[in-house]
Amino acid sequence: MEPVGQDASGGRRTAGGRPGGAVLHQRFRAPVTGLLSLPASRPRSSGRHDAIIIGGGHNGLVAAAYLGRAGLKTLVLESRPMLGGPGATVEFMPGYFSSIANSPGSLEPKIVRDLELEHYGLTFVRPDPTLVQPLAHDRLYVGWRNPARNQAQIEAFAPGEAARYDAFFAYLQKFADRLGISIFEPPPSLHHLVRNLTRLEDQEAFSRIFFGNVRDLMQEFELAQETQALIAPLAVVGGQASPSTPGTPFNLMMRPLSLASLKAGGAQDPRLIPLRGSTGLPVGGLGAIIDALRASVLAHGGAVKTGVGVATIKTRGNASSAS
Ligand SMILES: Cc1cc2nc3c(=O)[nH]c(=O)nc-3n(C[C@H](O)[C@H](O)[C@H](O)COP(=O)(O)OP(=O)(O)OC[C@H]3O[C@@H](n4cnc5c(N)ncnc54)[C@H](O)[C@@H]3O)c2cc1C
Repeated sequence: MEPVGQDASGGRRTAGGRPGGAVLHQRFRAPVTGLLSLPASRPRSSGRHDAIIIGGGHNGLVAAAYLGRAGLKTLVLESRPMLGGPGATVEFMPGYFSSIANSPGSLEPKIVRDLELEHYGLTFVRPDPTLVQPLAHDRLYVGWRNPARNQAQIEAFAPGEAARYDAFFAYLQKFADRLGISIFEPPPSLHHLVRNLTRLEDQEAFSRIFFGNVRDLMQEFELAQETQALIAPLAVVGGQASPSTPGTPFNLMMRPLSLASLKAGGAQDPRLIPLRGSTGLPVGGLGAIIDALRASVLAHGGAVKTGVGVATIKTRGNASSAS
């Protein structure tokens, strides 16, 4: 196969390597495969690729790393000169590097483990406290990893507040458990999503979490203003939303759904750390996650090419080609 663009493993740039929409000179053909229902291991085929991932953001790299481990010959094509999307390290001023995204908050521990990212160079600093949030009247909430220390601070907002805070998150967790789906499987249809919600209380929770807003939900639990100020940012982050925007409670479901999919692996599981506290801070910034993902892909036979934008995908029968 003629090499196209720049191989992120260090290969030379050749024809067609133009970021943002270059047409490949070589057609790639890949059987269309149910990506998440692969057998645990398949003999690696030779020649054409079994799977081509278009886009070398972190999701594309994670997909490629799992496919490689499943024995598929996998290629990642990225239009930009670097991998990682907003997680890529960029030199924004001469000599100054950063990524656009700043938080590894939702990086799944299972993915770190499955793809051996720490083996491939990723290291975390795990600060304690994990966050500090200013509150009115010169007060601070300090997010310690120790749940008891957090409870004491929350209880100081109002008598019984720690119990209400716990009840709020237990409500979300119970709903996630009742859904009976896994974030590690293909996304469910709406029918599949709601099929276990046969009890009235589950249906009400569905309505509140999917169509209600986080302000109303927090008020139903009679949370103190300070507690609401801690929780609301998590429900609106990443969207042009206010706490009154319908659907905002669903943004609090990432951890509950993760825990419903795979139970916690001990008290230090980052998914149990309160609020935004999490996995830890990757040494080298978010780009270090991308570097480790790339190394994991390459170590399992995958290929990664940057500066190669895919303009069209053609399918014929069970085969696809990208160009
Ligand atoms: C400003 C901002 C800040 C954010 N901060 C955070 C944060 O702090 N923490 C967090 O967890 N999330 C953050 N996010 C969200 C996070 O960046 C996205 O959820 C994540 O990037 C999605 O990853 P992805 O791999 O699906 O897509 P992307 O990261 O968008 O990757 C897609 C890749 O595909 C490439 N591509 C597109 N079309 C083609 C084509 N035709 N051919 C070849 N390549 C193509 C793109 O160049 C890109 O590299 C932030 C998002 C933004 C916009």
